[in-house]
Amino acid sequence: MAQTTPNHTQTVSGWAAQEPGGKITPFIFKRRENGVDDVTIKILYCGMCHTDLHHLRNDWGITMYPLVPGHEITGEITKVGSNVSGFKVGDRVGVGCLAASCLECEYCKDSQENYCDKVQFVYNGIFWDGSITYGGYSQMLVADKRYVVHVPENLAMDAAAPLLCAGVTVFCPMKDNNMLDSPGKKLGVVGLGGLGHVAIKFGKAFGLHVTVISTSPSKEKEARQHLGADDFLLSTNPKHMLAGKRTLDFIIDTVSANHSLGPLLELLQVKGTLVLVGAPENPVQLPSFPLIFGKRTVKGSMIGGIKETQEMLDLCGKHNITCDVEVIKPDQINEAMNRLAKNDVKYRFVIDIGGNGKSSEPQKISNANL
Ligand SMILES: [Zn+2]
Ligand SMILES: [Zn+2]
Repeated sequence: MAQTTPNHTQTVSGWAAQEPGGKITPFIFKRRENGVDDVTIKILYCGMCHTDLHHLRNDWGITMYPLVPGHEITGEITKVGSNVSGFKVGDRVGVGCLAASCLECEYCKDSQENYCDKVQFVYNGIFWDGSITYGGYSQMLVADKRYVVHVPENLAMDAAAPLLCAGVTVFCPMKDNNMLDSPGKKLGVVGLGGLGHVAIKFGKAFGLHVTVISTSPSKEKEARQHLGADDFLLSTNPKHMLAGKRTLDFIIDTVSANHSLGPLLELLQVKGTLVLVGAPENPVQLPSFPLIFGKRTVKGSMIGGIKETQEMLDLCGKHNITCDVEVIKPDQINEAMNRLAKNDVKYRFVIDIGGNGKSSEPQKISNANL
């Protein structure tokens, strides 16, 4: 049943699943009036993330239906509240995973609101007014100004959309581990999908030596020729893995299928770090010897704060980085979900919500963003 919160008076067309694993079909619902701290966004594009699929199927047992997924949102501002500065009507903006947080805890105060204990997500969350949040598979969004970022003028809005989740997810661990300003350091990227392909682009933009580690031999050509990776290790080939021993400074592991971290840790130099950003359902295998014998570290990381998201987008503007996307129409969402479940996409589906068609050709570069 659709919610009824008093000031939720704006009627919005979107796409929702009504039950676990159900088809995503057109859905009319209500959003709140644009408050003093809000901006209203005409959604142009929304990326399809693996998280959407997990929520759709209720894999984590926390989905509230009807579910309007989508947290890789780009669009144009159509209204701003009276307390809003820094955004105006017509601005090109993005909204990622976050809808609200407590604003008071040490993490919120430190621009790490993604780690706030009370963080609420842009869909399947509970907003400050008690309403359930509905995401970007819809034509319009009302968002609090604190969770909105600017999209640089030179980035195409469809190809920029997945940066709001996939991009910032790989950007933050790279930043935290000083990879943005350490040209020549050696980065390993495990898994070549939505997250992995952006990690390669960042790595190359920041002057790193990038090695892709994958179970699929067919991805070598793509990784090297199309994405510019310097090296490729087939993780099922013991010779490859032996040759790569102690060669990397830092590894981003994007794989959500079950796997052991042991062979990956062996690729790290002494004191190297591996960051998990994929989320395997079962506990990962973490053998102690490669940790102890190399003084290595294993960490996790989840998306990023809003300040970091803006920083990431500004750097993407500077280096002209966007995602490789396949743009679909809203009536192709279910087909795309099925393909997403099989990892049959290069590298992200993006829904053309605004009906603009594909706009991946970068627009004229504006000096303001350089
Ligand atoms: Zn996501
Ligand atoms: Zn907080």
